[in-house]
Amino acid sequence: MCGIFAYNGTQNSVPFLIEWLRNLEYRGYDSAGIYCINNKKEALLEKAIWKVSNLATKVERNKEKLDNYNSGIAHTRWATHGKVTVENTHPHYSQNERFYVVHNGIIENYMELKEHLQKKYTFYSDTDTEVVSKLVEELFDWDIFSTLEKVTNKLVWAYAIAIIDKENPETLVGAKLGSPMIVWIGENGVFLSSDINAISNVAHEFTTLEDNETVELKNGNYTVYSLGEVVKKETEEVDDRFEKADKGIFETFTEKEIHEIPSVLRNALKGRINFETKEINNETLSALNEYDIDNIEIIASGSSYFAWVVGASWFKEVAQIKAEVRISSEFLYETFIPSKRTLYIFMSQSGETADVREWLKMVKQKGCLTFGIVNVVGSTIARMCDMGLYSHSGIEIWVASTKNIVAQLAVLLTMSISMWLNRDLQMKDAKAYIEKLEELPNKLEGQLEQKNTIKVLAKKYSKYSNFFYLGKNLLYWTACECSLKLKELSYVHAEAYSTGELKHGPLALITPDFPVIAINPKNELRDKNISNIKEIKARSGTVLGVITAGDTTKEIYDDVIEMPKTHNILTPFLPLIPLWLFSVEIAKELGKDIDKPQNLAKSVTVE
Ligand code: GLU
Repeated sequence: MCGIFAYNGTQNSVPFLIEWLRNLEYRGYDSAGIYCINNKKEALLEKAIWKVSNLATKVERNKEKLDNYNSGIAHTRWATHGKVTVENTHPHYSQNERFYVVHNGIIENYMELKEHLQKKYTFYSDTDTEVVSKLVEELFDWDIFSTLEKVTNKLVWAYAIAIIDKENPETLVGAKLGSPMIVWIGENGVFLSSDINAISNVAHEFTTLEDNETVELKNGNYTVYSLGEVVKKETEEVDDRFEKADKGIFETFTEKEIHEIPSVLRNALKGRINFETKEINNETLSALNEYDIDNIEIIASGSSYFAWVVGASWFKEVAQIKAEVRISSEFLYETFIPSKRTLYIFMSQSGETADVREWLKMVKQKGCLTFGIVNVVGSTIARMCDMGLYSHSGIEIWVASTKNIVAQLAVLLTMSISMWLNRDLQMKDAKAYIEKLEELPNKLEGQLEQKNTIKVLAKKYSKYSNFFYLGKNLLYWTACECSLKLKELSYVHAEAYSTGELKHGPLALITPDFPVIAINPKNELRDKNISNIKEIKARSGTVLGVITAGDTTKEIYDDVIEMPKTHNILTPFLPLIPLWLFSVEIAKELGKDIDKPQNLAKSVTVE
C-alpha cells in the first residue's frame, strides 16, 4: 500500500513523477503528492486528495512554474494514520522546510517519537510519517546520508522512505525495512520505486533493496549501503512486461481482467501439465516430490485465503495429505511449532503482503521448507521462498482480485494432482481430472457470454441492501469469495454461510428483501441444498440459484444463473465468473468506482 517513487537525473522530473504515480495508483488512491527541485534549489510542492488525476490537474495549472526540476519524490497514499486530507498527504516536511519525505509503511513507535519531538516542533498532520521529517531535522549532522542512518535507528518498523534535502538537491536518499523498494538506472537518470509493476515497461534491470539497506541516488547513479559499508548488489531482469493501462473495449479494468480469465487459466496450466500424455510436467513439482511431506500449511489472507481453503481441500481429497490454511495476520501471533515434514506454502498476488512475508521469515529461520505461490516475478516473497511457482496471471493491477485467484486455484490443483501421482494413487482417476481440466478454460470462456443475462439480474437485485451467499463443501468457500467481491465492489452487505448453517441462526433475517444467492451445482449434495433452499422459500425468501445448465429443479428458484457441467472437483471454478460479473453490474447500477473501491488498495504492504 502506498506507492513511493523518486527520480534524480537530467530531465524535468514532474512528468515522470506524475506518470509513475498513475502507474502506482492501485497501491493507494486516498491522495497524492510530489516534491521536485532543481540544482538552483527552486522547488515545487503539490498535493491533492483522492486520485492522481486531481494532482495532475493542479500541476497542470501551475504549468508556467514547471522548470527543469531534475530531482523529485512522489507518493500515492493509502491512509493508515490520519484522515484523507491535504495536510496528511505526503511528501511531509521538517519545520525548517528543508527535508521532504515520502513513506510507505507504518512507524509503530511514532507516538513516542512524536511526544518527544513536539517539545521542539509543531506538527501540522496526523500522520506517523511527519515524525520522520521532524526527526531528520532534529538529527541532521550536515550530511543527509549519515543523518538517514541515525533516523532509521530510531524507527520501529515498517518503512520505505525517500528523502530530499533542499540544500543538497543533487542527492536523494532512501531506506527500507519491511516495505519494498527497488532502484534502477534509466536513460536519463536514476529511479527508485516501491513496485516493479510501475517500471517494467521501461526498465530492463533493477536492484532490490533488502531490509536495513540504504541507498544514495546521485548523478544518475545509485550506491547501496548496509551498516555504513557499500554493498555490491546484483541486478535482476524485468521479465513480466507491464501491461500499459488500457481498458480496450471494456468499461472498467476489473471487467477486462475478468475477461482475461480463460487465457490466464490456459497459461497457468501450460508448461505444467502435458495434456497429450495427461501427465504433470514440471521441474519444481518433481523436485517437491523428492521431499517426504506429510502435512501442508498454507498462509494467506483476503481473497487468497478463500482460494487456499479450496486448495487445502484439494490437497486432502486429491492428494490425501493433511492440509490447513491460516490467516496470515492471525497466525503471526500464534505459537509456531515447526515441523520438518510440513510444507509451508506462502501465497501473495503481489509477493509483498506484509503479514505473509513476516510469517515466511519466521518459518525460514526455523529451517522449514517454504514454497511461494506469487504472481509478481522477483517480488520479496518469491525471492525468499525455497521453491515456488508463479501464478502467471499477468499483472493484476485493479483492486478486486479476480484472474489471479483463478490462476492460484490452477496452481493448487496442479500441485495436488502432482503430489497425488507421487503417492501412487490411481493414475486412471488423475487422467480423468486432467482431461476435465483441459476443457475448463473453454467452459469459462462460454460463461462470459452470460454477461447480458447477468446485467438484467443485477438491475433487479441492486435494490437490495443485504445478501446471503450459500454454498456447501468446496463451494462454501467460493460463496465466501463471491460475497467478499460484492462487498468490495458495491459496498453492499453480504455474508456467506454453508448452506445447512442458515437455519442455525441467520435464517431469522430472511425476508423477501434479503435475497440469497445459492450456489448449487448438480452433484450428490444438490438435494440436501434444495431442502435448505425450500426452508428459505417457505419463509418468503428470494433465491437466486447458481445451478448446472439443464438442471430440472430450476423452478424452485426465483432466478437462475447457469453453470456448465464439469468434474465435481473443478466446480469451485464455475461460480466465479458469473458472480464476479454480478458484483460488477450491481456496483455499476449503484454508481460505484469499480476499479478503485473506497477505502481499499492493492498490495497490502502494511500489517
Ligand atoms: N502511514 C503513512 C500514512 O498514513 C503511509 C501509509 C502506507 O504506506 O500505507 O500516511
